[in-house]
Amino acid sequence: LGAFEHPVCVAFEVSGDGRSLPLASGKPDEIFETDGQITKRPVRALTLSALAPARGEHLWDIGGGSGSIGIEWLMCDPSLTATTIEPRADRAARIRANADALGQDRLQVIHGRAPDALDGLPLPDVVFIGGGLSDALLDWLASNLPSGTRLVANAVTLESEALLSQWHTKLGGDLLRIELAQAGELGTRRSWKSAYPVVQWSVTL
Ligand code: SAH
Repeated sequence: LGAFEHPVCVAFEVSGDGRSLPLASGKPDEIFETDGQITKRPVRALTLSALAPARGEHLWDIGGGSGSIGIEWLMCDPSLTATTIEPRADRAARIRANADALGQDRLQVIHGRAPDALDGLPLPDVVFIGGGLSDALLDWLASNLPSGTRLVANAVTLESEALLSQWHTKLGGDLLRIELAQAGELGTRRSWKSAYPVVQWSVTL
């Protein structure tokens, strides 16, 4: 941590823009080391809002990527706990490093593939699916988790979007389509650069 011992100071240093770490969810992308697999800030903010952490709750963050969802979940309150599941060893190691650098060493990182890696884990109050979405995974969750468990899943591909549409028919809940565009340069002028649309399904099992 160098001269800075408090995690907020580390983030302050990393973001390097003279601002301290914001309290709201949807923290700057730059505070997370990443290989590009990360839920970007605006979608991350909407995702944390949908996950709606309440005191003492436990999260499964399936498809950890860079760990940003599990880490921001933990940053909401010290009473929260989280387990993230990620099959790629390099990404699992990066998640561990990100969590420790941001003072969230209580993030448990499981190097494995869902749903197999879920067997035997302490049950969650809330599940986020950011990767590995499949019928097999949703079947496993629907049959192994107690009713009342909240689930939020983000889909980017047409295939995973179709899956969420089918499960929305089966179990209800809310489907939200998030379409965002950011202004960027177009020659000497500016135009809108669209991000891939994200379909987000939120349901209480
Ligand atoms: N929400 C993450 C980004 C997720 S990228 C963040 O903000 O950092 C999706 C991740 O899901 C990838 O890292 C991929 O390796 C992982 N993944 C793919 N299949 C999976 C499975 N069956 N179980 C768990 N993770 C999986």
